[in-house]
Amino acid sequence: MNFSTVVSKAFQTDILIIGSGSAGATAAIAAAQGKYKVILVERYGFPGGTSTQMLDTFYGFFTPGETPRKIVGGIPDRIVNALNATGDMFLRPNTYGAGTGVNYNPEKLKLVWDQQLIKSGVALYYHSTLVGVEQIGETSTCVFFHKGIGFFTITAKRVIDASGDADYCHWAGIPYEKAGEKEPAQSMTTTFRMSNVEHKEYEAAGGKKMLREKMAEAYEKGTHPLPRKEGSAHEMCQPKCISTVAVKVTDLDPLDVEGITKAEIEGRKQSFIFEDFFRAEIPGYQNAKIIGLSHQIGVRETRRVYGNYRLTKKDCMTAKTFDDQIFLCGAPIEDHRKGSNGYSETYWQYVPKGGTYGVPYGTIVPKESSNTWVVGRCFSATHDAHASCRSMAQTMSMGQAAGTAAVLSLDSDLDAQNIAVKRLQDSLIQLGAIVQMPDKIANISRNGWTNN
Ligand SMILES: Cc1cc2nc3c(=O)[nH]c(=O)nc-3n(C[C@H](O)[C@H](O)[C@H](O)COP(=O)(O)OP(=O)(O)OC[C@H]3O[C@@H](n4cnc5c(N)ncnc54)[C@H](O)[C@@H]3O)c2cc1C
Repeated sequence: MNFSTVVSKAFQTDILIIGSGSAGATAAIAAAQGKYKVILVERYGFPGGTSTQMLDTFYGFFTPGETPRKIVGGIPDRIVNALNATGDMFLRPNTYGAGTGVNYNPEKLKLVWDQQLIKSGVALYYHSTLVGVEQIGETSTCVFFHKGIGFFTITAKRVIDASGDADYCHWAGIPYEKAGEKEPAQSMTTTFRMSNVEHKEYEAAGGKKMLREKMAEAYEKGTHPLPRKEGSAHEMCQPKCISTVAVKVTDLDPLDVEGITKAEIEGRKQSFIFEDFFRAEIPGYQNAKIIGLSHQIGVRETRRVYGNYRLTKKDCMTAKTFDDQIFLCGAPIEDHRKGSNGYSETYWQYVPKGGTYGVPYGTIVPKESSNTWVVGRCFSATHDAHASCRSMAQTMSMGQAAGTAAVLSLDSDLDAQNIAVKRLQDSLIQLGAIVQMPDKIANISRNGWTNN
């Protein structure tokens, strides 16, 4: 299609970020330092992506195990501090699993992202979807669709693809692996929230352990047609509310119009099967009801771009360090597999001894590009490594690194491939980022955020 005949408006910017998820929103805040014009474009009417569309817990700030370390800092801390200031977060201590979670009020987080972005000077364009890219030399012209003004363009010197699906890379012809091509793609999940839950009754009846046993029993006996034997149902910031990650949808392609439509329908159907199960079987839930389904079905992986470096399972499981590492990850591989019977459970594998691995700069620089970074769940990693490095503290860290790198690239008039990574690491440390494993053991308690 020749977009030039239908384009209604044309904008210019220094740095363009596509997608306002945890990665993109953090990238935009990092890039907006008053020197350069920064535009952040988002297809929905609110920021946060997965963080606000469906979830309520940041994992990855703390390593799992008996000696947890806080391994992420900088702009991600500012987000949690803002939530903490109004009592909209608490720590959900957890020794194993993915480690201690930072639980937050997702509706408040929308406001916090808005406010932090505006305060930083980012120009926000919501309800606008990237539908095409034209690359001329070091400049990219991106075509967006907004239902009010039709097609419009933004021409940018530097681009950060934070769309989760690597849409920019796709339209720009940058190579990627599509999830499902080599290993089975991770399953999709519609999350749902229930109100009027009596937590004390639930805990007195055995809490998490009891829930797991009842789910397994219902699944084995077929009393409720549950899609899986386990799942998370946890307390939220809002009183008497719980949030669940339990639905499991497989064998459908979220990048295909028919696939994603079927997935949305199946996810909603399963959510209400779970509602019946909770009300009938779980003490404390007798009078509970679903009060909200996720804004869309949760998609764990789609496209993973080929970068200058590809993070591997071996890197994660040998706690590898790199000279050019830009952040740390200590989260286990958490692979929501389909399994041979269609419904086997999640596969976990931990970084040995509660350690961390470093994530190198090359994982956010696409191989065949000079003015582009790719962050968040479409960064450069194999299926297994991605299954470890996709928690939101890590996607925020990628964004923080890419936004800072884009500024450095303009400052030094060097492209993404050639910037001085040592200078990037110094700038990140100045922002408060953590790039080396700290010695200090984190002080974890429900209200313990400020102790770290
Ligand atoms: C069901 C589920 C449960 C999870 N549980 C947890 C958990 O409990 N804790 C945790 O830390 N992590 C969890 N994860 C992983 C984590 O949430 C994601 O890896 C992370 O949020 C991805 O962030 P992102 O910014 O890369 O992508 P996203 O959050 O997907 O953001 C991408 C943004 O880009 C926008 N966008 C997409 N395409 C376009 C386009 N063409 N034009 C304009 N905008 C576009 C989207 O609307 C979205 O806002 C979970 C993931 C899923 C799916």
